[in-house]
Formats: sequence, structure tokens, C-alpha cells
Amino acid sequence: MIQLKGVRKSFGKNEVLKGVDLSVKTGEVVVVLGPSGSGKTTLLRCINFLEAADDGELTIGDTKISFKHATSKEILNVRRQTAMVFQNYNLFSNMTALENVMEGLVTARNVPVAQAKEIAQKALDKVGLTDKYDSFPLQLSGGQQQRVGIARAVALNPEVILFDEPTSALDPELVGEVLAVMRKVAQDGITMVVVTHEMSFANDIANHIVFMDEGVIVEEGSPKEIFSNPKEERTKQFLERIL
Ligand code: ADP
Repeated sequence: MIQLKGVRKSFGKNEVLKGVDLSVKTGEVVVVLGPSGSGKTTLLRCINFLEAADDGELTIGDTKISFKHATSKEILNVRRQTAMVFQNYNLFSNMTALENVMEGLVTARNVPVAQAKEIAQKALDKVGLTDKYDSFPLQLSGGQQQRVGIARAVALNPEVILFDEPTSALDPELVGEVLAVMRKVAQDGITMVVVTHEMSFANDIANHIVFMDEGVIVEEGSPKEIFSNPKEERTKQFLERIL
């Protein structure tokens, strides 16, 4: 469903992605692991053109796009098929939870307001925030804000949701509620690519795990293969440090 081929990205002289290939099948949850600075977030941001990759190809559905030569129409099209959940939620502080979820539907997808409201309510119900429609972000806990972030992504009904370290800004006691919501989303069969440091969550939820280091994919496989029987030395060292 999504295929990346030979993705390269540099920031100045710092080559952050050194030719990354990645395949994500429909309905699959792919978890990207790796040390800090290995390029995980940059890879995720390249998928929906939040970051402009220097080279490589993206295939999404039936469409193949060259990162170098992508037209604005192609970029818009990719953005319509993807949604992102950010580390720091990225909610509009002057809008209620409901308005935050409606915003993208109304402005980017041209959904009529009444219909957007209905979709947004359903999405907030799904993440357990039925009683928080009218709350502003600052009236919500971090976990609740991130659940609004997930509702906003789900409401767009994208082909894939990209999660960029969705729990890393949260106090430890709030991590569980966000992971629970993500499990629920995964159970609905939504395709997900998740950058996370939550190993037991990755082990439970992932169909496929990708281990990155220094801008390349070092190893990939099922959770069992990666966690119980890693083949590459760098994977072993990373897991030993973190587990
Ligand atoms: P990870 O998500 O694995 O921690 P990142 O993709 O965030 O890694 O970062 C990889 C490297 O790219 C780091 O060295 C980081 O400093 C650099 N980097 C990321 N974004 C930018 C940017 N906008 N400008 C310059 N350097 C960046």
C-alpha cells in the first residue's frame, strides 16, 4: 500500500536518511525503532511531505511519486491520504476539542460543517472523550490532548496514520490511556506507521518492526524475530540498552 524506495534526506551536510526502503501493507501496523537521531521522525515526515526528501520514490495506492519531482497536486494528494499524530499534539489552543477535530475536515476536505461535526463527535467518542467536546486543550491532560490528536487523525479517514512518538511528551501515568486508544485504532484495521520507544507496546501491536540506525534500516522482521532473535549486532546492542 505504501512503498518507499531509496529515500535520501540531508540537512546541510548531515545525511539523515541514506537510502531507506520501506513497505507497509494495508491494515498493517509497522513500528519503527531506533536510537535517538537515527532518522525515524524524518522518515515519517518525508512520507507526507512535511519534510522534502532529496531523492527516492513513494508509492501510495496506485500512485508512484518521485520525491525530487513531485508536483504540488501529487503532494496534496498524498496529504489527503495520510494523517499524522505528533509528539506535542499540535492542537489549536484557541479551539475546543471538537473544533480541533472538525478543522481539517472542513478546511482541507471541504466537508460541510454539520457533517464534520458529526464525524468529529464520533471520533472523540471513539477515543473516550465524549464529555470533552467543548474543552480547550489547556483544560485537558496531556493524555487527553493526545487522544484529541488521534481523534483528529481518525476523523480524516486516511489510508494511513503516521504516529511520531505519540507518548514521549507524556507523564508516565498518562502513557497507558494513549496506547490503549492506539490499540483500538489498530484493531479497526487502520494502517499505521508508529515511531515509538514503548517496547512492550511495539511487541504487542506491531505486525512488522523496522530497526533504524544512522539513517539506514539495519534490520526488520516480526516482533518475535526482532525482540527474541535479532541478527544484527546494532539491533542487539540497542535492545540490550533499552530493555
Ligand atoms: P529520530 O527521530 O530517530 O530521533 P530525527 O529524524 O529526529 O531522528 O533526526 C535525525 C537527524 O536529523 C538528527 O541529527 C537531527 O538533528 C537532524 N534533523 C532533524 N530535523 C532537522 C531539521 N529540521 N534541521 C536540521 N537537522 C535536523
